[in-house]
Amino acid sequence: MAVRLRFVKLLAICALPLPAATPVLFEGARLIVDARRPPIENAAFLVDNGRIVRVGRKGAVKAPPGVAHVDLSGKTVMPALIDAHVHLGYQKDLVYSAGNFTRENLIDQLNRYAYCGIAAVLSLGTDLGDLPFELRAEQQSGKLGGALYRTAGRGFAAPNAGPGTPELKASAYGVTTEEEARRLVRVEIARHVDFIKIWVDDRNGTVQKLSPALYRAIIDEAHRHRTRVIAHVYYLDDAKELARAGIDAFAHLVRDREMDGEVIALIKQHNVLVMPNIAISENGVHAQPPAWLDDPLLHEVAPAAVIDRVRGSYARRTPEGVARAQKIYRDMQRSLAKLNAAGVRIGLGTDDGAIRDHFYAYTALRELQLMVDGGMTPAQTLTAATVTSAEFLRLPDHGTLDPGKSADFVVLDANPLDNIANATKIAQVYLRGQEIHRR
Ligand SMILES: [Zn+2]
Repeated sequence: MAVRLRFVKLLAICALPLPAATPVLFEGARLIVDARRPPIENAAFLVDNGRIVRVGRKGAVKAPPGVAHVDLSGKTVMPALIDAHVHLGYQKDLVYSAGNFTRENLIDQLNRYAYCGIAAVLSLGTDLGDLPFELRAEQQSGKLGGALYRTAGRGFAAPNAGPGTPELKASAYGVTTEEEARRLVRVEIARHVDFIKIWVDDRNGTVQKLSPALYRAIIDEAHRHRTRVIAHVYYLDDAKELARAGIDAFAHLVRDREMDGEVIALIKQHNVLVMPNIAISENGVHAQPPAWLDDPLLHEVAPAAVIDRVRGSYARRTPEGVARAQKIYRDMQRSLAKLNAAGVRIGLGTDDGAIRDHFYAYTALRELQLMVDGGMTPAQTLTAATVTSAEFLRLPDHGTLDPGKSADFVVLDANPLDNIANATKIAQVYLRGQEIHRR
């Protein structure tokens, strides 16, 4: 209990504004400046006023007199990650409900993301009220720390056909006419949402699907106002039609079958970003509790009672349910391998918080592992989670550690390019040049 209380207190501290830093020279680490390029061995980088100023080999980076030195010998430094698909605010300890969508809980979650080396998150269409916009503004003015909050406000679906989880359902608009859809898109854009979210899914025939006429109107109205649209998609045929309609991103892979050459060609042709979002589906393939439930990092960022509840849930699984999940998951892995081979833009999205006990923050690190299992290289996976996701969220200060960028980086005990599992071996996290107090 004492440990738990101390953790809560530390989280509160890192939400406070931080003092201006003196210049710091970090030396000796293997530095992944940009996941698309080979790392710099035995590197040095100078951080001043929250930004990367210079980068190079140790001994070759000029630093002002009196600069502080931090020795990172033996460590690997990578850019902080960006998660473009989460659902903030619904879970607090064992309780999963809209009643948890409070300032305190949102800030706590943003700090857990920071703790795991995640610099920004996009909450995708299930946000309530004005709090997300207030927190985003406080972060922009430097008054609030944690992972940067980006929001798609309230998303769009056919009536009662948005999020699959009952607790989230009321957050989405249910629209029935093009006029209504266009008007509500303008309402969300007037609130300065970062994206518009739509759900195109009939939840296995149980609800009405958003019609092509309605999603074309939503996409058209959003694009008229220079706002991009992200779709929850499930069926292959819908993915094709959405790509033709100009959708900007898919928050999921297709899940009714393996993606075919036609849909991949359409995704390429229309430059649609795809978030594989496979951890939430991979959850179902295990008949026994998986090993990652014992990862110390999970135990640092998730309440023990929730981990215990997840562990207990495996006993209720049926062999049929597990076999069904395994088939869907194998199709998804093949789809991901094809998309990657075709050079499709792939981003990081986890769907954290979309269902009860789908862990905030930690899931991003598990997703990296699953992307590698699905045929991406560690460098491609880190590129998706940093460069591509930062570009997609229009975070020009993020994604790489080139001079001029925000000093948002993760210090690891081992090299994630050798083994992506090393991305969980976090020694320190720095956001905007300030160390996140993790212990
Ligand atoms: Zn989602």
